[in-house]
Amino acid sequence: MRIDDILTRDKTLFSFEFFPPKTDNGWSALSARLAAFEALEPSFVSVTYGAGGSTRDKTNALVKHLATETSLDPIPHLTCVGHSKKDIGELLTGYAEVGIDNLLALRGDKPQEGIADSDFSYGADLVKHIKSFNGRAFGVGVAGYPEGHPETPNRLTQMEHLKAKVDAGADWICTQLFFDNNAFYDWKERCELSGINAPILAGIMPITSIANMKSMAELAGGTNFPAALQRRLMRCQDDPDAVRNVGISWAAEQCADLLDHDVRGIHFFTMNQSFATEDIYKSLGVTSSSKLR
Ligand code: FAD
Repeated sequence: MRIDDILTRDKTLFSFEFFPPKTDNGWSALSARLAAFEALEPSFVSVTYGAGGSTRDKTNALVKHLATETSLDPIPHLTCVGHSKKDIGELLTGYAEVGIDNLLALRGDKPQEGIADSDFSYGADLVKHIKSFNGRAFGVGVAGYPEGHPETPNRLTQMEHLKAKVDAGADWICTQLFFDNNAFYDWKERCELSGINAPILAGIMPITSIANMKSMAELAGGTNFPAALQRRLMRCQDDPDAVRNVGISWAAEQCADLLDHDVRGIHFFTMNQSFATEDIYKSLGVTSSSKLR
């Protein structure tokens, strides 16, 4: 279903992000959890795309599997670093053929070995290109960064870059993960002041271990871990179950507060694990998204 129709249908959107597993065991584990994700009735699910096309075939395979074998509505991520217009055209044609309606358009992280030849410099270029694609009128989402994107320390300039993506035709914004709702609310207000009116989905990722928190700090550069959260984690850092409980209950509190503030949607970075998302729903007193909308 196209994102405009999803936005009309659901007062509040709930989406789950998966990554394409690298191994057969990873595929089996994710397949075994899909029924649990389906039971939570998300508005859509999204599937990541390795920068530079490193997961191209696996992303395609997972998207196709979700579209044909489950009730989940998949939205592929698409990154443009290291891609030509021809590469992107082939991907768009393939997605149009299997009836995909929406894409999350990203520049992608620059590979450490440097950027290969690319017809696109930024996310906005990819949005423009997808919107001019003749084969299908895809809905297009883009990324936003409540706590800043590390490459652009100037926050006013960064807002102009986000606005360029929306002006290029983006239909919704999904944020980077954050742990401080006040940072999100202030950024959302700054978006409005800059004339950015696209619906915004808040990115939530529960901490499930100390190692997982450290990798988030690397992956989502600039994300702040509030002192209150760190204090709670430090108290139990030697007890993995307790760390997991603290991380999940923090994320559940964030979700409850976001819902109280009429957030347009929540995007869960699931890491292909259903337990944390299920536990958050349980903490909110529900067993599916329909009860939260
Ligand atoms: P852009 O919007 O192009 O911005 C990148 C940087 O360039 C920013 O600092 C911006 O301010 C700056 N910039 C933009 N336009 C200009 C301009 N005209 N001149 C100068 N500077 C400019 N990565 C993956 O590889 N695969 C994924 O599947 C993936 N999924 C993601 C999902 C979400 C919800 C989020 C938040 C991020 C995801 N990422 C993914 C990470 C993302 O690709 C990186 O954060 C990347 O560094 C930026 O991508 P972007 O689309 O936001 O880039």
